[in-house]
Amino acid sequence: MKNIITTVFIVCFVGIKCFSQSKSVEINDGIKTQAAASIQANYNEYKKIALQIWNYAEVGYKEIKSSALLQKTLSDNGFKVQMGVAEIPTAFVAMYGSGKPVIGILAEFDALPGLSQQATPEKIPVAGTDAGHGCGHHLFGTASVAAGIELKKLIDEKKIKGTIKVYGCPAEEGGSGKVYMVRAGLFNDVDAVIHWHPGNDNGVTMTSALANSSAKFRFKGLSSHAAASPDKGRSALDGVEAMDMMVNMMREHIPQETRLHYVITQGGRAPNVVPDFAEVYYYVRHPKRDIVKEIFDRVVKAANGAALGTETTTEYEIIGGTHDLLLNKTLAEVMQKNLERTGGVTYTAEEVEFAKKLQTSFVSKPPAIDSAAKVKPLKTEADAGGGSTDVGDVSYAVPTVGLRTATWVPGTPAHSWQAVACGGTDIGIKGLIVAAKVMALTAIDLYTNQTIIAKATEEFKKAKGDYQYKALLGDRKPALNYRD
Ligand SMILES: [Zn+2]
Repeated sequence: MKNIITTVFIVCFVGIKCFSQSKSVEINDGIKTQAAASIQANYNEYKKIALQIWNYAEVGYKEIKSSALLQKTLSDNGFKVQMGVAEIPTAFVAMYGSGKPVIGILAEFDALPGLSQQATPEKIPVAGTDAGHGCGHHLFGTASVAAGIELKKLIDEKKIKGTIKVYGCPAEEGGSGKVYMVRAGLFNDVDAVIHWHPGNDNGVTMTSALANSSAKFRFKGLSSHAAASPDKGRSALDGVEAMDMMVNMMREHIPQETRLHYVITQGGRAPNVVPDFAEVYYYVRHPKRDIVKEIFDRVVKAANGAALGTETTTEYEIIGGTHDLLLNKTLAEVMQKNLERTGGVTYTAEEVEFAKKLQTSFVSKPPAIDSAAKVKPLKTEADAGGGSTDVGDVSYAVPTVGLRTATWVPGTPAHSWQAVACGGTDIGIKGLIVAAKVMALTAIDLYTNQTIIAKATEEFKKAKGDYQYKALLGDRKPALNYRD
């Protein structure tokens, strides 16, 4: 009897559960179709915003107009915007709704110096300008704002419940903007964070990022006439060159996954004046943050050794520091379904012509143009990538998931004039729209199915273990002038 009752109970319980699940899928399906259609319907509006930011092309921490435009778009749509968060004038948090769950969406908007380029398939800079959106952050910020606005509409219509926070994240390119935002505790009440990045294909991120420490090493020497009295001078540039020489020799004796790179940002002004000041800007990267710390200490030793040998002095300023990216498979699987549902980017005949022309400028053989329309399968195993991102620090604060979409013609590398060119055309905007849809759809799943966040949080805690987050850039204030 007891068994029969138990069986009846199980059948009923499972039956109800199945019914409620299929019902929730049905409800979701309708909401998702509505959200995607609404984003598509606002294509021209988002295009206008993205192209405006593309034209502004403001570099890290100088994104005054770009940030203001995104803030205005959000506040015009009813978001409460807190600006100047984490002691960064261009950082903001825009909030709508109330209660749990709290879903965060990251928005970036900084450009890169030296990449000025028109929206043409040939290399033509925009006269009188220097920076360009070589990483597509104008698309990034706009798509995230679009997703946020769409979710707000659904909260208003009582189709989803909870809070949406759009994070305006400045200076991703080397400025580590999000690290200060994490350090300021701005993600403490968030259940999950969604982000994306422009790319040349469509896929959900299952590739981590390299931890990164960067610093500017400044050498001081003594000026004198380089020909008449060279013995009376000490060259700060010698200090920089001796340091670079030692670091380049060091490459043989560091783990092979390491990435070390530098640019000499100041090396004197005139050959006949012994330079009394020189500066070199270094990045040290490795998949593991502890190894980054070790190698960075060795780079500092090279700087000190160089100063000793050239009778100059040196000091350094930490500029940036980011963690590796903690992946979350639970969230990635949810996002993958929404990406497959949305699909990639298809080109018009005119866009195919643009793409063909652009591809002739690549040094390696590009993938097929129609690969922009395809969606990559989800990688079953995570791997380490070649780049770094300050999203890494966010991923140590809260379960995080991201994707990339084909905003650039297949084969286009990031940080290139070709990426800037694509970002100024409808090819880029179409990728933006795909990203906005996938992020909104993924958030809908998180708002309507509590079990996903619970499972993602469990996975997050397990991956993080007992590691106590500590920013790699220490307690320094935001490097607001790092692009000067
Ligand atoms: Zn980027």
